[in-house]
Amino acid sequence: MTERPGNRDGVVFILVYHRIAREEARWTRSVEAFRNDLERLYDMGFRPVALSAYLSGEMDLPPGASPVVFTFDDSSSSQFRILEDGTVDPACAVGVWADFAAEHPGFPPLATFFVLPRQPWGQAAWLDRKLETLKEWGCELGSHTMTHANLRGLSDEGMKKELAGAADFIEGLGFEINSLSLPYGVSPKNRELLAGFEYEGKTYSLRAALLVGAEPARAPGSENLDPYLLPRIQATELEYGLTWWLDRVEAGKVRPYVEP
Ligand SMILES: [Zn+2]
Repeated sequence: MTERPGNRDGVVFILVYHRIAREEARWTRSVEAFRNDLERLYDMGFRPVALSAYLSGEMDLPPGASPVVFTFDDSSSSQFRILEDGTVDPACAVGVWADFAAEHPGFPPLATFFVLPRQPWGQAAWLDRKLETLKEWGCELGSHTMTHANLRGLSDEGMKKELAGAADFIEGLGFEINSLSLPYGVSPKNRELLAGFEYEGKTYSLRAALLVGAEPARAPGSENLDPYLLPRIQATELEYGLTWWLDRVEAGKVRPYVEP
């Protein structure tokens, strides 16, 4: 690992990706840039941890390592695609990462996917196989609401319906649900509902809600950490994007969490 001294107060990078494709665009990370992200993070001593591990503060890291939490929003097929011959497309996010991990021990594909029930990565026929693979890797699924709703525009009842429906869907896939990626990064008017509510006789609760931008999150257990307003860093070349933040770490201007 790295020689850096431990720093339990340092910030944590929670990344958000949307589409992965040949060409870079506002909401698309190019395949090449994604692979470069993995390589650069690896070289700088970052290692993937599950979002739930960050939330509980029980991150399994070797001394000198910094955590990085990967999240993927909107569940497009570019994140996880199976080819006709049944192999994983080496140009989808999961494929790129699996190939990378084979050559870089300690950097396994470990991410939270905020899925949309209408279209979990396309390819309905391969859904079970994808879920099995993700589960095996320890990946997590999270809520992104039922319909990618702007929660600020909804009544309490409308919001409960969106969250309950998405939670039921994810549980139906055999995954636990404990986090929500806020569509458009917009918080609801009634933020208290995120922590828990009842809907049609069933109790629902979330441990965290994630924003879209644009800075690192606080260290686990930090006094000022609000799990219902967790900032994420977008994987882009733009200002306040991932490359920008990693440059700041290298320049010594931002101090990440380092496992003692
Ligand atoms: Zn989204």
